[in-house]
Amino acid sequence: MVELLGDTGLSLVYLVAAILFIQGLRDMTHPRTAVRGNLTSAAGMFVAVAATVIAFEILDPAILLAGLVVGGAIGTVLAVKVQMTEMPQLVGFFNGMGGGASALVAGAEVVQLGSANGGAIPAEVGVAAAASGIIGAVTFTGSLVAAGKLHGLVTGSAIRYTGEHVVKAALLAIAVASGLYMIVQPDVLAGVLQGSAVPSFWLLLVAASVLGVTLVISIGGADMPVVIALLNAYSGLAAAGTGFVLGNSALIIAGTLVGAAGMILTVIMCESMNRSLTNVLFGGFGEAGTSDDEVDEIYEGNITETSPTEVEMLLDTASRVVIVPGYGMAVAQAQHAVAELSELLAENDVDVEFGIHPVAGRMPGHMNVLLAEADVPYDRMTELEEVNPTFAQTDVVFVIGANDVVNPLANTDDSSPIAGMPVLNVAEAGTVVVNKRSLSPGFSGIPNPLFAEDNCLMLFGDGQEMAQEVVGEYKESH
Ligand code: NDP
Repeated sequence: MVELLGDTGLSLVYLVAAILFIQGLRDMTHPRTAVRGNLTSAAGMFVAVAATVIAFEILDPAILLAGLVVGGAIGTVLAVKVQMTEMPQLVGFFNGMGGGASALVAGAEVVQLGSANGGAIPAEVGVAAAASGIIGAVTFTGSLVAAGKLHGLVTGSAIRYTGEHVVKAALLAIAVASGLYMIVQPDVLAGVLQGSAVPSFWLLLVAASVLGVTLVISIGGADMPVVIALLNAYSGLAAAGTGFVLGNSALIIAGTLVGAAGMILTVIMCESMNRSLTNVLFGGFGEAGTSDDEVDEIYEGNITETSPTEVEMLLDTASRVVIVPGYGMAVAQAQHAVAELSELLAENDVDVEFGIHPVAGRMPGHMNVLLAEADVPYDRMTELEEVNPTFAQTDVVFVIGANDVVNPLANTDDSSPIAGMPVLNVAEAGTVVVNKRSLSPGFSGIPNPLFAEDNCLMLFGDGQEMAQEVVGEYKESH
């Protein structure tokens, strides 16, 4: 195969793979072409992996095929079985695996080169391996903690302690110093510090792995979307670093694309939460709790319950309705029922839209994906900036399973974990109907004064059941 391809041939195959990655990313920018984009990028990755393994004769093709079958089967089972609501932790887990794999492959190269050259490794390889090791290990452990937080296995609160920044700085210093030692020794330090590059690399990995844990446990659950996007970028950078270690252009291109896309997503997420990245990483938001007394003070005597029949009557007289979905819609799998409701309203000449908050749900684009699955037309999904100015002209807002993204405390309470996050100002509408099962808080763990507003009615119950009942009532009266 090496003869068949040659260096130029392999570069050409990598070029084809890179074109497929870029075309795939382009397609992923629109929901209509996103599935095709995913498949195109996956095809690019298949081409790159197959060409590499075959050209370098790393593995017997039979073993490669067996690996593809086993890996493909695991991937298929995970993709089919995982609930849509668990997708963010799966993405986090995959990011972690990518980071860990990059660090280990860079390590394998260090071991190989180090043992061949009496302990020394070329400086350029050392720099790339150190960068890949540090970023990859931070990504690995950080992603596992982030996935654990989202899955409820690790506390969603920010764990803060005195001197935490010193601990993090010390761990980073150890990792960087190990990397430097690995690069300069034994040439520079020969005779002073004997030894090979390999132990330094393992020390670097241990320090960076602990750093990954300390970085993420001190960030509150409400900031996990930004953290997952950032770790996604890191996994790409680690892969690119490993690409430099191996001199593999496909890995450099793929890693850089993932790194750049992840960084852009991180910036977009920060902007949607109105926070700087430094504030997310070191601010320790999300740890604030609210006492029972404070919760009682907000809700007691101020909650008005409603029923599906009453909601139908409200919708019957409305000329403009905005439906605001949140994480609870995903839990209840209520997207088909609300899609049907929006269709019925539109058929009866009601101006109906979905107001989509960028961090509603548990992953970027979560609501768009669910509503697209239920065939809601794309032009009926309106982003936060566009829908917010329209609430004052809206008769009814139907909030289904959303909480944090409609919490006015973000605008009024500087000490709240979601302070500064732009929210959907639904209380400006004529009437707000909020469907959820109880008065329990959302992801950030704080009460929501919206529920106690005079124009807010609570429709308690499972999202799917309640939406179906409203649909049933609406059909009956039309
Ligand atoms: P929230 O998590 O704030 O609230 C969801 C609400 O849904 C809960 O209050 C819950 O109340 C209700 N609910 C749960 N199950 C059901 C059900 N079966 N039927 C009806 N309601 C239900 O969700 P939002 O979408 O408003 O906000 C998203 C939050 O998640 C933000 O804080 C965001 O930062 C965070 N986040 C976002 C990520 C992203 O990328 N989008 C990733 C990780 C976190 P009850 O139990 O009373 O029913």
